[in-house]
Amino acid sequence: MTELRRPRVRPDLELMTGYHSPQIDVDVRLNTNEAPESPPEEFSELLAAELRALEWNRYPDRSAHSLRSAIAETESAGVPGGLGADQVFAANGSNEVLQSICLAYAGAGRSVLTFEPTYALHSHIARVCGAEVLHGGRDEAFGIAGDELVRLVSENRPAITFLCSPNNPTGGVLPNETVAEALDAVESVGGLLVVDEAYGQFSPHSALALLGEQRSLVVTRTFSKTWSAAALRLGYAIGPTWLVAELSKVVLPYHLDAPKQIAGVLALRYGQEMRARVAALVEQRGRVAEGLADLAVTQWPSDANFILFRPERRRGEEVWQALVDHGVLVRNCASWPGLEDCLRVTIGTPVENDRFLDALRSALS
Ligand SMILES: *Cc1c(COP(=O)(O)O)cnc(C)c1O
Repeated sequence: MTELRRPRVRPDLELMTGYHSPQIDVDVRLNTNEAPESPPEEFSELLAAELRALEWNRYPDRSAHSLRSAIAETESAGVPGGLGADQVFAANGSNEVLQSICLAYAGAGRSVLTFEPTYALHSHIARVCGAEVLHGGRDEAFGIAGDELVRLVSENRPAITFLCSPNNPTGGVLPNETVAEALDAVESVGGLLVVDEAYGQFSPHSALALLGEQRSLVVTRTFSKTWSAAALRLGYAIGPTWLVAELSKVVLPYHLDAPKQIAGVLALRYGQEMRARVAALVEQRGRVAEGLADLAVTQWPSDANFILFRPERRRGEEVWQALVDHGVLVRNCASWPGLEDCLRVTIGTPVENDRFLDALRSALS
């Protein structure tokens, strides 16, 4: 037999590692910023009834019109002049939304700009799509200096500039003025500004207010966090109609299955419940922040459903392991650039938050 000669992967992928968020089997999982509760019981019941009536032999609606209309209706209050389905693009999680944006507007021979530390998938997806990634930095409080941003955009002319507000994993929102300034700079070089608002419903303001047919801005959101539906894998972008039309060229036909389209429409009926959950999490976040304030850790103010913190007298890695030993899993950011020794805890139920604070108290004592 001849020796198997393995095909060689694309050279630009050779040194890349995949994206990993370890899923360890512990009681209290506060590592991926999921909502601590499912959507209302009624949602599951109505979904089950609709699925029983589904024509499984048929392809789904390729344009996902009902879903995009329902998203447009839900978000229209935040957008000047309202919103139509043709300004909404939906895909399998906002990660697929980001990938579609990169496929359409970045790729080989083009560059994207991110401000680190931020959501790792922005760089990762851009690289997988073949683009070069340029990094800007942040200040001590993880803010972005407007003049530095404008300089990086004008000098490098990136095809896409990514912002994330509230920023994962640091937690803060960007001031409106910074986003507006970024948009002007990006437009002056013919680029696109993407604002990732996965935690948008926690934020006091949104980049949706800056949207318009004449603006090179797209805002991404997801069902994974505030809508309590990470299992659904559904996210969306809101942007000008011309951009949405380009994005539909790069997705595969029928990329959104029928159950997902139905579930998405149903989930949006429970907006009031979503806002109540957000309010409850904000209250819990205050409680966790107070608990952290009594311990030997530095924490950063959060406008999302998680808090970034750094143990002052022990290595982040050791504290992470000690928490796991107490049955509590948080995100280990200790080895991420710019986040040395940092850990990120998702806000959970009151019981989970107490478990976390108790475990951290023991881990630090
Ligand atoms: C969680 C998260 C997402 C969500 O991705 P999905 O694919 O929709 O689950 C996107 N962006 C940021 C910044 C996130 O934290």
